[in-house]
Amino acid sequence: MSEVARCWGVIPAAGSGSRMGLSEPKQHRLLGGKTLLEHSLDALLRLPGMLGVVIALAADDPRASDFRDRDERVHVVAGGVQRADSVLAALHFLQKIAYEDDWVLVHDAARPCLSPADGERLVSEVLAHGGGGLLAEPLVDTLKRVGADGLVQATVDRRGLWRAQTPQMFPLLPLQQALLAALAAGVAVTDEASAMEWGGHPVRVVSGSPRNFKVTVPGDLELAAFYLGIADGGRE
Ligand code: C5P
Repeated sequence: MSEVARCWGVIPAAGSGSRMGLSEPKQHRLLGGKTLLEHSLDALLRLPGMLGVVIALAADDPRASDFRDRDERVHVVAGGVQRADSVLAALHFLQKIAYEDDWVLVHDAARPCLSPADGERLVSEVLAHGGGGLLAEPLVDTLKRVGADGLVQATVDRRGLWRAQTPQMFPLLPLQQALLAALAAGVAVTDEASAMEWGGHPVRVVSGSPRNFKVTVPGDLELAAFYLGIADGGRE
């Protein structure tokens, strides 16, 4: 039997979730008795070789102690100003307990429906090819570029365009160095892959599935409940 790779999870969950129009961050919204963040955490913890998951929470988030008590593989750090700062805080923590070439899977707190099959495919394809990679889906819709007047300016060729999802999987030290260098250079780092691309590292897309969508607006909760098999549509 081949050896299972050493993997760690990172979940940046220190944002305000303002797009949901909720008073509390969307990652703490309950769905079937667990928060979105807990669903996302459990999806990572289920993956083979997952040694631990570091969650970055807002410094004043009172849930930190709940997570620390929940599972010995779960660690909590204080997040930063932007998502990339929160990821870096988690990587800094990992530096103390992991090897430089251990794999890190960064996953959005708001992607609670990640299936074991998608997560395992990401890990096995990245291990097979080396480098790093992310789950993604090719675009299927026709794309329009639209002006401020609401009129279509052009139909954009969608060939070769993919929607990036998470987890995004890279070795610890190169990821940390790429994020630091990209931030120092003032590059907009909206996901970990963009920092690795900017640093010249090969980044592979691995086919994901629609169920791994990002819960963004309130209507998305019903769809998440459907994928998670929660009978009442997640209303609580
Ligand atoms: O706001 P957006 O949906 O892009 O946030 C993506 C993820 O990054 C969320 O899980 C959010 O909690 C997290 N985040 C963070 N630290 C920040 C800002 C966002 O961990 N300072």
